[in-house]
Amino acid sequence: MTIPVRPEGSTMSDSGNSLFATALDQFNRGADLIDLSDDLRSILSQPKNEIIVNFPVRLNNGSYRVFRGYRIQHSNLLGPYKGGVRFHPMVDLDEVKALASWMTWKSALCDIPFGGAKGGISFDPNGLEPDELERVVRRFTHALGSNIGPDHDIPAPDLGSNSQSMVWMMDTYSNSMGATERQNVKRIVTGKTLETGGSPGREKATGQGVVFCLQHWADEVDFDLAGATVSIQGFGNVGSATARIMQVHGARVVAVSDHAGAVADEDGIDAFELTDWVRERGTVAGFPGGMWIEPDDFWAVPADIVIPAALENQITAGNAGQIQAKVIVEAANGPTTLQAEKILAQREIDVLPDILVNAGGVVVSYFEWLQNRSAQRWNLDDVDFKLRETLWKACDAVVDLRDELDVTSRRDAAYAVALRRLQVVYGQRGIFP
Ligand code: NAD
Repeated sequence: MTIPVRPEGSTMSDSGNSLFATALDQFNRGADLIDLSDDLRSILSQPKNEIIVNFPVRLNNGSYRVFRGYRIQHSNLLGPYKGGVRFHPMVDLDEVKALASWMTWKSALCDIPFGGAKGGISFDPNGLEPDELERVVRRFTHALGSNIGPDHDIPAPDLGSNSQSMVWMMDTYSNSMGATERQNVKRIVTGKTLETGGSPGREKATGQGVVFCLQHWADEVDFDLAGATVSIQGFGNVGSATARIMQVHGARVVAVSDHAGAVADEDGIDAFELTDWVRERGTVAGFPGGMWIEPDDFWAVPADIVIPAALENQITAGNAGQIQAKVIVEAANGPTTLQAEKILAQREIDVLPDILVNAGGVVVSYFEWLQNRSAQRWNLDDVDFKLRETLWKACDAVVDLRDELDVTSRRDAAYAVALRRLQVVYGQRGIFP
């Protein structure tokens, strides 16, 4: 099967592959393992729908700016399309296609009744005033119109967006409904604030899921997480929650980097103090509780566990050789290039793949959707318990299939688990007509 290579753009990896080409390479490796038919490969190699909207927004200086937004619906075989919306200047069609396909595999791997989708707007949310940002989000929601829906396609937060963005989306969507429908569409988005119908535990869910998957790995390889050293790239929703939970479990956060700087301290950086710092200043740069280092030096800081929690294509052929960890935990989507993955495999550094370890977000999104559907509010202990149960089942399935198929790559095994589930359903349903 030929893999399309994007001629130019934001998300090229060090091998020159576009992000979607990387995603297809991963997909094909998993498909090879289970002898997926060529028919199913062609169906699953492309999203079902690619929606692009260009919409104008009035800025505070009185001018209009036209924004480009995307919603890619990859698969709805197992349930409604599901996936986040990303606000970042580098968002483009290729990136969102890759992210949408990863959502399909994630839901299938965790055995939750959702398909895969992703959206985004290509802009820098930090470059706008709060009221301008609100108008962008509301206008994007309006432009998507009936392409999204509470039982059809359900957005959530991702890089650059947050629970406030979701509340604006929900409010805009519900105000476009008739009066009798409005209370029934809260589940149009997940990742809302608690007060507006969000789930306890959703804010930290992805980070919590990362730690549950790490616990499963530590148990399997007989590694003690208490006292382990951790470095984390990205200190937003996912990176900061992961850091705080790891610290509570006795691990030491020895390095953190983000878009504007990096800090390191072999005695440990206080994740709670750093969270307060970043909340006020928007970056880890200048944090007084550690030594400031060059972001390029971040990967070489000795740590048992390295957690990329920012953008894709961050672990490359250029820095994979510097990493001294036992395990890389892909909290971000697509952080490891294909070349880097080969280097890490040669160096026997374990990689816990994104479609498994960052699935906590979509799993708790599913719980939020269920709560909204039945007008219930679960408590945090129930959410955490069910999240752990769901992720540990997925981890078990990956380890079991890896051993059964006699492969070393956890990523390949994770794809094989997800694709087998889709294969069974396609086998039973066939295609219409
Ligand atoms: P966020 O916007 O809350 O935080 C992003 C972090 O990345 C920030 O600390 C930012 O400074 C940092 N960053 C941005 N550009 C960088 C660069 N060039 N170098 C280093 N750091 C940089 O985003 P998030 O929600 O925490 O998402 C992070 C990753 O996790 C993304 O890959 C996202 O797709 C993935 N993810 C998020 C969720 C979720 O629930 N939010 C779920 C699954 C996966």
